[in-house]
Amino acid sequence: MSGHAIVVGGGIGGLAAALALHRVGWQATVLERAAELREIGAGMSQAPNAMRALAELGVAEQARAVGVPTHASGNLRTPDGRYLQQARPGDSTALLAFHRADLHRVLLDAVPTGWIRTDAEVTAIRQNAGSVGIGFVGGELSADLVIAADGIRSTIRRLLWPDAPPPRFLGRTAWLGIAQVPDLPGSITLGPGGYFLIHPVARGRAYWAYVTTADAPGIRYDQEKAEVVRRIGSWHDPIPSLVEATGEQEVIRIDICDLDPLPTYVREGGAARRRRARDESRPRPRRRAIL
Ligand SMILES: Cc1cc2nc3c(=O)[nH]c(=O)nc-3n(C[C@H](O)[C@H](O)[C@H](O)COP(=O)(O)OP(=O)(O)OC[C@H]3O[C@@H](n4cnc5c(N)ncnc54)[C@H](O)[C@@H]3O)c2cc1C
Repeated sequence: MSGHAIVVGGGIGGLAAALALHRVGWQATVLERAAELREIGAGMSQAPNAMRALAELGVAEQARAVGVPTHASGNLRTPDGRYLQQARPGDSTALLAFHRADLHRVLLDAVPTGWIRTDAEVTAIRQNAGSVGIGFVGGELSADLVIAADGIRSTIRRLLWPDAPPPRFLGRTAWLGIAQVPDLPGSITLGPGGYFLIHPVARGRAYWAYVTTADAPGIRYDQEKAEVVRRIGSWHDPIPSLVEATGEQEVIRIDICDLDPLPTYVREGGAARRRRARDESRPRPRRRAIL
């Protein structure tokens, strides 16, 4: 079966979905709210299961070319610099660390030209007789399938499941940054009430994250970078110097939230339901048990 899908959201999830559709012969239109797909975000690491998914999408080599092996979870330290655990060279626990923008670019380059429409915030979804319609700033489109990849505050989730709970603040907040500091090994330093993570990323940079507890979401400081330095300034090297080496504008601040799962992630229209019922009622070839 092939058809036309609308993917809502052009983040890593949306582009991966579009690429997967392309690989199985579907057409897709990706509707992205942002005016342009800029180099945003900080870093992330990917485990072998994610790398297998990237291989299925045909972009494992391109991803490896912009990923850097990291042993962050093997190098556990305390704020005074002692190692609770130290990764050995050649340890098989390495993950691949990326600047989010580099991994996003790999997917973007692989999605067929013309599939992505920016400045297209989706505001409505409507189930028609044989299709699903999407309303967005700038127009309307219909397709056989809509995939919601519009992030943790998904509009599509809210429209289709208005009673589902919204994101829940987990009592934690994080500062993230990318600095031009080459060859840093990955590590996690466990301190009182929080931890500091370092991953090396491509082109001689390092990604860091300081995750700690917060009483409420939305607490912000005039100078976010100075606030991180105030909290971890006495921790072992290279933590303070890494934060100092990060441009003020490069420090990202987020509150950490979780989203409860839905009982199902699929909402079928009448036509799709009828097609599936017809397929299921067709006689199937008998399976012969091989013992
Ligand atoms: C501190 C921290 C560390 C993390 N570390 C890792 C890690 O190491 N490895 C890892 O794999 N993951 C990590 N994650 C999780 C990871 O960042 C997310 O799971 C992932 O980025 C989600 O991607 P997404 O494409 O689903 O959503 P998003 O990246 O949020 O993309 C959603 C897109 O949809 C667009 N959009 C939103 N609403 C609309 C609309 N109405 N219409 C059109 N477009 C819309 C947005 O503009 C955006 O481009 C981490 C997260 C945090 C907070």
